Amino acid sequence: MARKIGSRYTAHQILGRGSAGTVWLGEGPEGPVAIKLLREDLASDQELVGRFVQERTALLGLEHPRVVAVRDLVVDGNDLALVMDLVRGTDLRSRLDRERRLAPEAAVAIIADVAEGLAAAHAAGVVHRDVKPENILLDMQGPLGPGGAHPALLTDFGVAKLIDTPGRTKSSHRIIGTPDYLAPEIVEGLPPRAAVDIYALATVLYELLAGFTPFGGGHPGAVLRRHVTETVVPLPGIPDELWQLIVQCLAKAPASRLRASELAARLHDLLPLVAGMPPLDVDEPGADSGSEPYEDDPYPTLPNGPRRAAVPLVPGTSPDSSRDTHTSMRVPGPDELSGGPLGTARAPRAAGQRRPGSARNKQAAVRRRRLVIGAAAVAVAAAVGVGGWLATSGEERDVPPTGSQQSAPESGPGTAPGTGPRTDTSQP
Ligand code: ADP
Repeated sequence: MARKIGSRYTAHQILGRGSAGTVWLGEGPEGPVAIKLLREDLASDQELVGRFVQERTALLGLEHPRVVAVRDLVVDGNDLALVMDLVRGTDLRSRLDRERRLAPEAAVAIIADVAEGLAAAHAAGVVHRDVKPENILLDMQGPLGPGGAHPALLTDFGVAKLIDTPGRTKSSHRIIGTPDYLAPEIVEGLPPRAAVDIYALATVLYELLAGFTPFGGGHPGAVLRRHVTETVVPLPGIPDELWQLIVQCLAKAPASRLRASELAARLHDLLPLVAGMPPLDVDEPGADSGSEPYEDDPYPTLPNGPRRAAVPLVPGTSPDSSRDTHTSMRVPGPDELSGGPLGTARAPRAAGQRRPGSARNKQAAVRRRRLVIGAAAVAVAAAVGVGGWLATSGEERDVPPTGSQQSAPESGPGTAPGTGPRTDTSQP
């Protein structure tokens, strides 16, 4: 069923649904396009609509072969839409869901592509802030690269810029993003700089190789704490140079991480080393029958439950996607972050290897149960804190809580929200 979007575009069929809205295959004056129709609650936010109009030029400015270009913005009645280049393919999450793990060569090639896109964005003063497999599109019509990987493009810069809210007095107390990919400095309340994208991208690289993220699993509060307190554990069989690169980009100190252009170059250099390697043979922590759930995970994923990275969205929002991977929380206190004796590294094992610490005797099991209860208390305290924060902050309820989040120049986070008329801004 065709649907008119503004005066220049027609949406024909749904390509996919995301947390910020629905993406349609559409037609514009210059041919096929992808049209992201933002969620109703975003579209009805007058501040956001005003910013949408104000930031039009900046949104349309990012042009790079590894970035999905935003071509137009449309405000039309109840519709708020971003018109983008159409990428004929799939997103990296779908590929990962299908294959579970990628061969190192393909993983490195894909991440090198995205690092190039990020380098261009960072050079233009834009921080993405929501790098994750869902926001990486694979162009199936592009030429096959190393490891049989299609060209990868980073998307959602447009929405990131749109939802940018620097100048909001309370923005330093919010955490916006997807927990598994959040850099520790964001958890600690520092302004997001380009290095947060490098951390997120290294997390995606790890995930492509391992089949799971280094610090994910369980309650979002536990995930955030692990980013700050835990050390990434080596993946069995990974070439040392590749591992060192991941470790450097997952450094807790942002200044220790590589820049996007350096990361892209180093990954390209590594391609010959990983050429032809099969996917790593790694078991997901907690995957075998002899193991127990993570000690610090008071909310382990149920067999038929959501995937481990899923977290609840902020109350009051109704996502149109089943992939609830965004969170919006207050910054946890130092006591919640310290982890203390609750800290547990999610040690990956070679396939078949027993999980260290599996219940072998009752004493150990009792000790672990105590840790679980203690961790549950921390998580509940965090959850109560989130609820309390939401209840006491009227401003926060006005903020669109999901979708691709803020982008900001390296100097600091974003601009103040504006107000503006609801008009059709699509260009004649
Ligand atoms: P959100 O940011 O709202 O979570 P996404 O940007 O992830 O939404 O888009 C949801 C899905 O729509 C993607 O997984 C992808 O399949 C499809 N999609 C998004 N942008 C494009 C595009 N430019 N071209 C083709 N398909 C796209």
